[in-house]
Amino acid sequence: MSVAGPLIAPPTVSPATHAAAAADLVRRYRAVPAGTPVRLGKPSSNLFRFGGPSAQRLDTSHLTGVIGVDEAARTAEVQGMTTYEDLVDATLPHGLMPTVVPQLKTITLGGAVTGLGIESTSFRYGLPHESVREMDVLTADGEVITASPDGPHADLYRGFANSYGTLGYALRLVIDLLPVRPYVRLEHRRVASADLSAVISEVCADESVDFVDGTVFEPGEQYLTIGRLTDDPGPGTSDYTGQQIFYRSIRDRTVDHLTIHDYLWRWDTDWFWCSRVFGVQHPAVRRLWPRRFRRSDVYRRLVALDRRTGLSGRVRRLARLPQEEPVIQDVEIPVERLAEFLDAFHRDIGITPVWLCPLRLRSDRPWPLYPMRPGELYVNVGFWSAVPETPGDPEAHNRRIEELVAELGGHKSLYSTVHYSESEFWEHYNGPAYRALKQRYDPYDRLPDLYHKVAR
Ligand SMILES: Cc1cc2nc3c(=O)[nH]c(=O)nc-3n(C[C@H](O)[C@H](O)[C@H](O)COP(=O)(O)OP(=O)(O)OC[C@H]3O[C@@H](n4cnc5c(N)ncnc54)[C@H](O)[C@@H]3O)c2cc1C
Repeated sequence: MSVAGPLIAPPTVSPATHAAAAADLVRRYRAVPAGTPVRLGKPSSNLFRFGGPSAQRLDTSHLTGVIGVDEAARTAEVQGMTTYEDLVDATLPHGLMPTVVPQLKTITLGGAVTGLGIESTSFRYGLPHESVREMDVLTADGEVITASPDGPHADLYRGFANSYGTLGYALRLVIDLLPVRPYVRLEHRRVASADLSAVISEVCADESVDFVDGTVFEPGEQYLTIGRLTDDPGPGTSDYTGQQIFYRSIRDRTVDHLTIHDYLWRWDTDWFWCSRVFGVQHPAVRRLWPRRFRRSDVYRRLVALDRRTGLSGRVRRLARLPQEEPVIQDVEIPVERLAEFLDAFHRDIGITPVWLCPLRLRSDRPWPLYPMRPGELYVNVGFWSAVPETPGDPEAHNRRIEELVAELGGHKSLYSTVHYSESEFWEHYNGPAYRALKQRYDPYDRLPDLYHKVAR
């Protein structure tokens, strides 16, 4: 059953073309002289760390396609640098979707598996790396191995998640897919602060629910958005790629219908709510801003340009406004401690809106480099903004968040800035397991060490 929306045919590649592209990348990697820093060359990124040492760029433009979708087995075979936008375009015509589709269209499968990802199916299917059946990895020492849960490289299979490309690069992955229906019926339910943890736990236990996430607009004003797959478009589907804005609809409507395609990308058009800093949510600007540029990768490029040029900092200095500390983080908090986290966050940081997304590991074993407890329900809390800098302490708010996460038994994703000392970092991210993997797969230190890569 096809449930495709208005799709553009995704790039597909034959197994032979993939094999040639992978062999070419391996050849180019091996030709890089020892001691020369190297990095993946991709046209987009969703990291929020800018700058960093220069490194030789390995072009990956021939590793961006879907090799095949197997309807019967409900799997897809995919090249490592394929974006979820292309992957979804390849699976929806088969009535299937990846188990977890991160909300930003240019996140790639390899990036989400090595750098983690999350979405509204995570309460049931965990994180993107938990959908991987097997993957070919170009390891740091230049070998290509196939890692699977039970094979000779099961240690790399489990240790790849949260290694951020420091053990090797995923070139080909086979992942699980889920059957879908053409539409999603959404219910936006306002929940009192005191009830939030209990309601999240209850909704996540309801087998009729397919998707759950939430939005905190202000302290005390929070909504859970509960999605169910359906064949019924209701009174008509909404379109939030035009003049209407998805996050605002959460406050205004209690029930809504989207096509499955538009549901998966509901957050991309306005980068959750972050497009507002560019004026894109003002009706006059929105009308003029071309629809094809209402996308998260366009906004991220604008932020990268600002960080490179320091433009907004200069404007603030000229206007005699305080400098700002960017606070862009996603953290996972055990569900029963969510209220404590939100109270402290509203008091000490004060960013709104905040995104909530419940998750529970799909696996009954922990993943060594991101040691969440199997069986336990966590809530991902995402906040992406800036606050006035504390004089003399430009990292104060980010460090407060790290302390809070540690106090509450949570975890912090590493796609953005990291402020831990090296010893604290390895306490949180399993230093002994990482050292064993590095010893086996990168004995000559060809790729950077994880702490130095993410916290430099
Ligand atoms: C504002 C914001 C909100 C976010 N929200 C979400 C969210 O809601 N849900 C979510 O899932 N994620 C979210 N992310 C995080 C995002 O999923 C991660 O940053 C992810 O790693 C990005 O993948 P990418 O493909 O863009 O990777 P890149 O940015 O290109 O790279 C990320 C890292 O992965 C490595 N890497 C990339 N490809 C490979 C590969 N094939 N093999 C090995 N290593 C590789 C790179 O070396 C790099 O260290 C958010 C990020 C930001 C900035």
